[in-house]
Amino acid sequence: MLITDLIVTPIAFADPPLLNSTGVHEPLALRTIVQLVVDGDVVGLGEGSGERVVIDRLKSVRDVVVGQSVFATSAIEALIDETFGGDGGGLSRIERRVVFSIIEVACLDAQGKLLGVPVCDLLGGAVRDAVPYSAYLFYKLDGHPALDGRPPIPDSWGPALDPSGLVAQARLMIDEFGFGSIKLKGGVFPPVEEIAGIRALAEEFPGLPLRIDPNGAWSVATSIQVARDLSGVLEYLEDPTLGLDAMATVAARASMPLATNMCVVSVESFAEGVAKKSVGVVLSDHHYWGGLRHTRELGALCDTFGLAMSMHSNSHLGISLAAMTHVAAATPHLGYACDTHYPWNRSDDVVKPGVLRFVDGAVPVPSGPGLGVELDHDVLERLHRQYVDSGRTTRDDTAYARRLKPGYDPILPRY
Ligand SMILES: [Mg+2]
Repeated sequence: MLITDLIVTPIAFADPPLLNSTGVHEPLALRTIVQLVVDGDVVGLGEGSGERVVIDRLKSVRDVVVGQSVFATSAIEALIDETFGGDGGGLSRIERRVVFSIIEVACLDAQGKLLGVPVCDLLGGAVRDAVPYSAYLFYKLDGHPALDGRPPIPDSWGPALDPSGLVAQARLMIDEFGFGSIKLKGGVFPPVEEIAGIRALAEEFPGLPLRIDPNGAWSVATSIQVARDLSGVLEYLEDPTLGLDAMATVAARASMPLATNMCVVSVESFAEGVAKKSVGVVLSDHHYWGGLRHTRELGALCDTFGLAMSMHSNSHLGISLAAMTHVAAATPHLGYACDTHYPWNRSDDVVKPGVLRFVDGAVPVPSGPGLGVELDHDVLERLHRQYVDSGRTTRDDTAYARRLKPGYDPILPRY
């Protein structure tokens, strides 16, 4: 059961103009799809970052991975560390784990297909049949405007630039997907406006847990003030400010727990975050923490040190959603609805429809072998062509924001 090939395919897929603390999502989001071939026959799927640097690293470890047993993921991780770590590569542990995570998921998908079991069974088995996700709201423009001769790109969501726009967006998302909790990506407008947005959501959807994530756009003083204003309204406050020390200062004065995917991002920062009491909730993400098994280990770490665990998301498609669902199903300590961008990007999914679906805001764990999803090769080819034609190799929300609004300044903290 040896790995005989590793096929790396960069893709670009449609993304609406979502706003965040560093700018605006561009019309195309980038991603990489990996097909890991075992014995020339079984194919395991992986999905991850579409940044050029990650694609180059994946391609450069092909010769290291080919020839290894598909079950030897620890050995493969060590080989990747050897390739990129130390004096030769000089990559940080996080950078190495970004590469390994995509390959690990593909290995687990192939293992499951070989054994005829779902991936969650390779992780200790599911402790829940379906994984709840949150409605992930964004301030957003009313479609991508015309630019450089390109026609405008409308979408069905409409604008969300004030509390009523957010409520309308939440209504659309909850009506279609049934989500039972809401997250707002903030850090876009002055906090008083975003507080008004959260209050409007609380009024419209009483009882639904609410979160806001300004991605470090606020100073310590502003963060403390927002925490006071939204006391009793938020289930957690995500990355209001930047850095373990600043977060610790806010955490000591906030009534709700602080959550993060920005300051506790590795085993090293985990230890420091625990010592400083910077956060109460760690947002896992298998793409950054080194795959599904390391994510389960993160759950054990959080449990040991008295921290809660939730899950972070970036723009992604169905292979990632399947992987997120399997690991969330198999992680007992995960105690919150997970984040997902899937509603924003699902129209371009590389996975054949039918398996991934939302029932009352939760994705039933796919029951087929491996991840349980099937690659649509026609869509993959179309999205790869789109990637090549776009000429893009990196994500740059700030540059796009500046093309729409010259002089846009992404400096943080902004408020
Ligand atoms: Mg976040």
